[in-house]
Amino acid sequence: IHTIGILGGGQLGRMLTLEAKRMGYRIVTLEPFPNSPTGQIADEQIVAAYDDLRAIGELGARCDVVTYEFENIPLESVLALEHDRRIVHPGSTALRITQERILEKTFVRECGIPTADFAPVRSHDELEAAERAIGYPGVVKTTMGGYDGKGQWVVRSREDAERAWTQAKGAALIWERMIPFDCELSIIAARNAHGEVIAFPTSENQHDHGVLATTIVPGRIAPALAERARRYATTIAERLEIVGTFCVEFFAAGDDLLVNEIAPRVHNSGHYSLDAMSLSQYEAHVRAICGLPLVEPRQFLPAVMVNILGAGAGDTLGGIDVILREPLLKLHVYGKAHAALRRKMGHFTVLGETVEDALATAERSRASLHWIDNRAAALR
Ligand code: ATP
Ligand code: MG
Ligand code: MG
Repeated sequence: IHTIGILGGGQLGRMLTLEAKRMGYRIVTLEPFPNSPTGQIADEQIVAAYDDLRAIGELGARCDVVTYEFENIPLESVLALEHDRRIVHPGSTALRITQERILEKTFVRECGIPTADFAPVRSHDELEAAERAIGYPGVVKTTMGGYDGKGQWVVRSREDAERAWTQAKGAALIWERMIPFDCELSIIAARNAHGEVIAFPTSENQHDHGVLATTIVPGRIAPALAERARRYATTIAERLEIVGTFCVEFFAAGDDLLVNEIAPRVHNSGHYSLDAMSLSQYEAHVRAICGLPLVEPRQFLPAVMVNILGAGAGDTLGGIDVILREPLLKLHVYGKAHAALRRKMGHFTVLGETVEDALATAERSRASLHWIDNRAAALR
């Protein structure tokens, strides 16, 4: 394998590209917007819509293996590549199940792994049935296409439920029980076509309005819970026959560990692995999709990853000179021009002798960063 194709142009594709190029591979990306975080550094860029089957065919012809960096690409495009006998990892079965929340949760339960109780909402009758079956408080989500908490409504009353129904404009929905979790966890794992599976440490994730804000590794949880998360991830990989890196997100509530969702791709909560592990989630993905061996990753030191989110108030990041004085901090910037509210613009990972050390440095550094509105400054 010489050339890897990536569907998608975001920061995950960018970091995947950087790691793949370090290992000697060529990257061709296909995404709708030129100059995307991935396109900026790929060897070749095909600018086209994800459902443009002619362009998809072109990508397949230029690559030895095709992968994707987000799961909301049309299933038809992956099926078309497979029909052309192109290799796509993970394949269409894993994508079909993980891109639709009802199929995904049904699959997870069939594996004997718990999830939040849920009910489908595809009609107003089903909305009322879900209200009776699941009730309040609940989280209503579009079954497809959501990310970063988009397409979600917390429902605490009939009024909220009706509002969600109206705002969804006929999109298929799922009504989940809202879980009063102690914390959110995730585990990154990878599987290759030989069936080797490796897993990264279980991490603890904190969100800001549905967007990942902070990842703490290892998560501050009982070892038995971390071990169970790892077992669940392995079962999911084997049952879905995933080839590549993937992520399983969990809610931990008391002794319960519920799967929230599966991402069949490299994941934001695995960024820390670039700087804190002997093997990054991106290298693990390259190895897995190229048929190379997988080895258990080792963590050098406890780590905290902080997402640098836009504030919708300026596009220039201030305070970089301050945080770069931290000796165990690594800064990553994605090359996006506009820092819209809670848009993922970059991240940093801090290592520490203990999780508490890393957290203290991370919080201090987060507080040092701010957005500067150059246009407003120029007008003054
Ligand atoms: P991602 O960007 O991780 O793909 P997403 O848009 O697919 O996110 P979810 O992961 O389902 O959405 O939800 C986003 C966040 O909203 C969760 O991490 C969690 O904080 C909260 N959340 C979602 N569902 C529930 C639930 N059933 N109970 C409690 N909190 C929830
Ligand atoms: Mg998701
Ligand atoms: Mg999620």
